[in-house]
Amino acid sequence: MSDREGFREPLAEAVRSAERWLDGVRDGRIPPEADVEQVKDALGRALPDRGPAPVEVIRRMSAAIEPGLMRIHSPRFHGWVMGGAQPVALAADWLTSAWDQNNGLRSVTPGVAGAEELAAEWLLDLLGLPDTAEVGFVTGATVANVVGLTCGRDELLRRAGWDPGDGLAGSPRIRVLAGAERHGSVDSAAHLAGLGRARVIVADTQGRMLPNALREALADGDGPALVVLQAGNIHSGAFDPFPELIRIARDAGAWVHVDGAFGLWAAAAPGLRALTDGIDGADSWATDAHKTLSVPYDCGIAAVADPAALHGAMAQHAAYLASSADVADPSDRVPELSRRARGLTTYATLAQLGRLGVADLVQQLADAAAVIADGIRGIPGAEVLNQVVYTQVCASFGNDDRTRAVGAALLADGAALASPSTWQGRAVLRFSVSNWLTDTEEAGRTVAAVRRAVDAVG
Ligand SMILES: *Cc1c(COP(=O)(O)O)cnc(C)c1O
Repeated sequence: MSDREGFREPLAEAVRSAERWLDGVRDGRIPPEADVEQVKDALGRALPDRGPAPVEVIRRMSAAIEPGLMRIHSPRFHGWVMGGAQPVALAADWLTSAWDQNNGLRSVTPGVAGAEELAAEWLLDLLGLPDTAEVGFVTGATVANVVGLTCGRDELLRRAGWDPGDGLAGSPRIRVLAGAERHGSVDSAAHLAGLGRARVIVADTQGRMLPNALREALADGDGPALVVLQAGNIHSGAFDPFPELIRIARDAGAWVHVDGAFGLWAAAAPGLRALTDGIDGADSWATDAHKTLSVPYDCGIAAVADPAALHGAMAQHAAYLASSADVADPSDRVPELSRRARGLTTYATLAQLGRLGVADLVQQLADAAAVIADGIRGIPGAEVLNQVVYTQVCASFGNDDRTRAVGAALLADGAALASPSTWQGRAVLRFSVSNWLTDTEEAGRTVAAVRRAVDAVG
């Protein structure tokens, strides 16, 4: 490139900086060394009258920020439910920025719209969802939950003879029913959709919604109902019993939404698929590509069985948005109009892994979780509290104080990281396996780090 515009140097500096960071992916210490205030000091707090050349900004920025980076991409990072980025996905993400397509209208940006449409078809196939459903690429499962609940809200209002365009004031009240161990984003989505607090349905010891409790709650009250189920509990990894719950919800005329941020991917692995049996009978689903599939942040996925319901809730209408009348545009499926072509990372990852590669990836994560669970069970005084059916392991190391102390010792050791939490009234250390690099060997290294932490606590 002739580079009159000056792209080459800052990009080359960014590549050098990225390589330095990525070199530490397997063995670098996991927790950040610097806190927010130290990073701001290092960056320099004052807005300059004029700054240095782009390459110099990138160099200084990298140097100041790197000490404050959490090594989320480490194969032994098991905090919260976070993924690492695969090489093909990271490269696709860089191209997404370089191409800088505003993927709202397919006729304007056919290149990236085409790749996203293929990725959407492949996702429906891999996740065992109806091939007539449509997919929107959003920032994460939180927004995918908002999409599902908003579509459900509008459809339920229409069925009750109310035009959603008239707003919620004076409309039939929609009841939201969700499990006791739903993710917090479900409450947030219900709030954003104007639906208020969810009625909480009792769950069993693994956090699975109890069918009888749902049946009773639906019978106790009337009006349209929106039932939110879960594929993959963040503590236990458990999946709701979909066939029975969906039958009960259907009998009551409810809209069924499934939060499957990381759990929906079980459908892609033959050995785990049974966990998601019956899930295709729901109306809408939320999942993430930036967790299990290990694409860079951010990429969430909203799928809705009835395309008309999706377009009705999401599409923007304006004369200047000249779309092809018969085919939906990307912006008809998400809350945004302008957005990056974030589905490209999913396209590239699925194109590389293929059907078998995705199956292997999901199975690998579950196998690694089983190794972590077995290893912890072998540590005197340690206990695994959940049935490990998928990628989540909740451990206790005696009483709550000792469990917290082991968590702190593990953080100080720096070779592995798990997040402290409270589950069913007890302090736990939660290990989530959702990174493409975590295999049974790395899981063994995690167990060794936990043993060191337990020894350190004494
Ligand atoms: C992570 C997660 C979410 C929220 O997803 P984001 O991508 O963080 O918006 C919702 N539900 C479950 C079960 C999750 O694990």
